[in-house]
Amino acid sequence: MPLHQTPAVVIGSIDYGESDRIVTFYTSEFGKIRGIAKGAKRSKKRFPNRLEPFTHVKLSFFEKQISSLVRVESCDLISPWARIREDLVKIAYASHLLELIREMTAERQKSPGVFELLIHFLSLIEAGEISEKLLRIFEIRLLSFLGYRPNLERCALCKQRVKEGSSGFSLRRGRIICPECREKEGGVLPLSAGTARTLSQALNLDLDKLSHLAFSQKALEESREILPKFISYQINKDLKSLKFLEEIKKG
Ligand SMILES: [Zn+2]
Repeated sequence: MPLHQTPAVVIGSIDYGESDRIVTFYTSEFGKIRGIAKGAKRSKKRFPNRLEPFTHVKLSFFEKQISSLVRVESCDLISPWARIREDLVKIAYASHLLELIREMTAERQKSPGVFELLIHFLSLIEAGEISEKLLRIFEIRLLSFLGYRPNLERCALCKQRVKEGSSGFSLRRGRIICPECREKEGGVLPLSAGTARTLSQALNLDLDKLSHLAFSQKALEESREILPKFISYQINKDLKSLKFLEEIKKG
């Protein structure tokens, strides 16, 4: 059994039996993997606070021949994201990123781009950059990495470039619909050409320029309606972290 090592983020963790924990990691080399950390509950020495959600670690593990669960050998701390843990709003934002990765990625499908995206956005939240547009940018970039990149330029029906007017977005088609074709298509959510342009920029800008991208109020409102619904449509599930975010906002 070879020992593997990879940078990883803990994206989920539950107690298992008397003394173990089952931990879900998103790793840079192996995509999403689940592992068992033997004795993690009983002995805090071996994995001191390393198996909590958000923690960025260097994971060492062994493959097990008869199980898809790996055996967690050790976790060396890279970053605990301590400032995320101190603040309920930051926790809510970071939990949304983790839920998206947990629910949208398949086990053992490597995507270094997704790993880089997760680390980049966790570090923004850690640094105190918490704005709703960041959630939307993360959502649309993740969709794109996982093969669900929405088409925001040409109408799904007539293929014309959408420039203005009351255009919309079809969840089923994953594409913009021009104002002329909108009546022919059911279940279309409002998506103005301006919002479509902002979201296209969110898809195409370099990571380090993304936090400077401005969202108008309309772009925030429209993308808040479209992106989480589009994700739920793709994974056939509601996102729990959105309810948590709503409750915190009402707070
Ligand atoms: Zn059209």
